[in-house]
Amino acid sequence: MGQSTARYKAIIDSREQKRTNREHIREDTMPATILHADLDAFYASVEQLLNPDLRGKPIAVGGGVVLAASYEAKAFGVHGGMSGRKARELCPQIIFTGGNFAEYQRLGDAAIAVLHDFTPAVERISIDEAFADVAGCTHLFGSPEAIAATIRRRVREELGLPISVGVAGTKQLAKIASQVAKPDGLVHVAPGTEMDFFARPAGRAHVGRRSGHRTQA
Ligand SMILES: [Mg+2]
Repeated sequence: MGQSTARYKAIIDSREQKRTNREHIREDTMPATILHADLDAFYASVEQLLNPDLRGKPIAVGGGVVLAASYEAKAFGVHGGMSGRKARELCPQIIFTGGNFAEYQRLGDAAIAVLHDFTPAVERISIDEAFADVAGCTHLFGSPEAIAATIRRRVREELGLPISVGVAGTKQLAKIASQVAKPDGLVHVAPGTEMDFFARPAGRAHVGRRSGHRTQA
C-alpha cells in the first residue's frame, strides 16, 4: 500500500468511525419527544374556576351520572362514570353543579392552542387532552421536559386550570405518564428507563415526577 493510499484509507476509516460515533450518540440520546397533555378533573376544575365558592369543595359535574369529580370529591372515592346516587352515598356533602358546556369548549380549545404555540404536530383526542410531538421545536424552546413545564405554567397562569403532562418516547407511554402525573404534575419517562417506570412499586409511582404546584402524593 503506497503512502498516499494508506493516508487516504486512514481518512476514510476516521470518517467511518466518526459516523459510527454519531449514530451511536444519536441512538443513545434520542430524547423522548411525545407529550400527552391532559387537563385535570376538567369540567369540575372549570366549575371551580367560574365559581370561587366551589373551590376546595367536593363537587361533581353531572346528575344521574358523574361526568367529572373535583379532587376533593375524588378523595371520597367519587369518580367519573359513577352514578350520582353512589357519589352521594360516598360523599353526602358533595355539590352537584355544572352545565357550562360553552365554557368547557372555550377553555379546552384555549389549552390546546397553547400546545399549538410550540408545534403544529398536535393531535387532539378529546375536549381536554392532546398529544404533541415536539421533536421539531426543541432547538427553539428547549428540552421536551422544559416545554412540558412551560405548557403547564402557561395553562395555569393564562387559563387558571391545572394540567398534567406526560413525556415519553411513544404516545401510549406518554399517556400513561400523564395519568401517573395527576393531579397537576409532570412525569418524564427518559429513554432507556421505560422498564424501570413500569417496575416501580405502585406507592412510588411518582418518583421522578416534577410537580410545580404540589408535593408528592
Ligand atoms: Mg382530562
